[in-house]
Amino acid sequence: VHSSESRSAVGDSSKSAYARERKVVPGGSMRAASWFQPNPPYAARGEGCWVIDIDGRRLLDCANNFFSLIHGHAYAPVLDAVRGAMTKGTAFGMPTESEILLAEALAARNPRMEQTRFCNSGTEAVLAAIKGARGLTGRHRIAKFEGCYHGAYDWVEVSLDPTPANWDDENGNPASVRCNAGTPDTVLRDVVVLPYDDPQRCADILRREGTSLAAVIVDPHASRAGTVPMSRETASVIQEACRRDGIILIADEVISFRLSYEGASPLFGLEPDLITTAKIIGGGLPIGAVSGRANLMAVFDHSAGKPKVSMGGTFSANPLSMAAGLTSLEHYSRPVVDRLNSLGDLLRTRIGKGFADAGVAATVTGMGSLFRVHVGPGKVTGYRSAFPTSEAGNLIRRIQLAMLDENVLLTPNCSGALSSPMTEVEVSAIADKLVRVVRRELG
Ligand code: PLP
Repeated sequence: VHSSESRSAVGDSSKSAYARERKVVPGGSMRAASWFQPNPPYAARGEGCWVIDIDGRRLLDCANNFFSLIHGHAYAPVLDAVRGAMTKGTAFGMPTESEILLAEALAARNPRMEQTRFCNSGTEAVLAAIKGARGLTGRHRIAKFEGCYHGAYDWVEVSLDPTPANWDDENGNPASVRCNAGTPDTVLRDVVVLPYDDPQRCADILRREGTSLAAVIVDPHASRAGTVPMSRETASVIQEACRRDGIILIADEVISFRLSYEGASPLFGLEPDLITTAKIIGGGLPIGAVSGRANLMAVFDHSAGKPKVSMGGTFSANPLSMAAGLTSLEHYSRPVVDRLNSLGDLLRTRIGKGFADAGVAATVTGMGSLFRVHVGPGKVTGYRSAFPTSEAGNLIRRIQLAMLDENVLLTPNCSGALSSPMTEVEVSAIADKLVRVVRRELG
């Protein structure tokens, strides 16, 4: 009997909550309900790297609210900061000093984040960065990488999830594939799609299309496109094309900012014009940010009247997100970054060795505190090599649900992120359980 057929991890309270919610919310919860079909566990509370569900089950959380909780749940310093801010009022249509502090904290980490404007999600940050790039260049087309996620905005959802049946155009280049019903053809035409792991083809495409582009958007350690680092070669191809053709290079570090104290770009030799961040910089509260050098960020400057490009929002730079984010970043110091990255190395080494010893056709990828398990014999270098056969896709889902039965939360593609409350104890438990589960499911 496969573990997915003998699911025990979801209790009766979660089952009845899901049945009730499906009546009033299409598909059940907006949250990660689809991750844990047939039934998601409902969270009651979080405590460090653990979530306790409404049936009282303790789950080791490697999903961390979509990788946003770098210090786990209910982290006391963040709670104190939020409480302190909250008692003074939750939102003002006036500036607060908390916004200065968080912008200064980002600038202190990376000089390319000299100035920042805040919003409420990574999606909004990407949308604003693209508008900014258009304002700066007077062009409207963009380029993005195949299979890469940059939020729920139709321009960047192009070719988010192409399949072997539609991923090439008639010239053998990555096609612009519609992700949502109803996305206009004009959007597809105006988004140039680049291969994540083929620098030569990237160079060719950018040579052809470069002068029509406002922006190239890149996440150099893209989660959905394999959870593998981009090659230095590809990074330098885009960097050079952006310089040559006056294209704004946007580094989307919404997840990958956690990879180093300064963020992801310096690890890849990238010198982006604009950087988008979110998730960990909000300490568990809603946030997004666009950062860059002052001369470029001037495109959003509204101090003298109408800006070239507007970027605003009722709850942007609200004092609660600012306070939580500042404390979260203060506690994500160099030693903490290094410790978490070493734990990630240990985790991947142990999983890789476990798979090799067991002789199973599975691999682990990732960098820093991020990891992902793939099923199959091949090396994963990007979206296409990470794309699972239907059999491998089923196995991945079974492994993820079997890990839930082992009280470990992973995302549906079997990826995860470590958080600072974790130690070698949790990392060993994750590795041992994963190897055991993969061995059983693939054996
Ligand atoms: N960009 C990247 C690289 C992401 O991973 C995500 C979310 O996972 C986003 C943008 C969108 O962020 P949000 O969910 O805060 O809108």
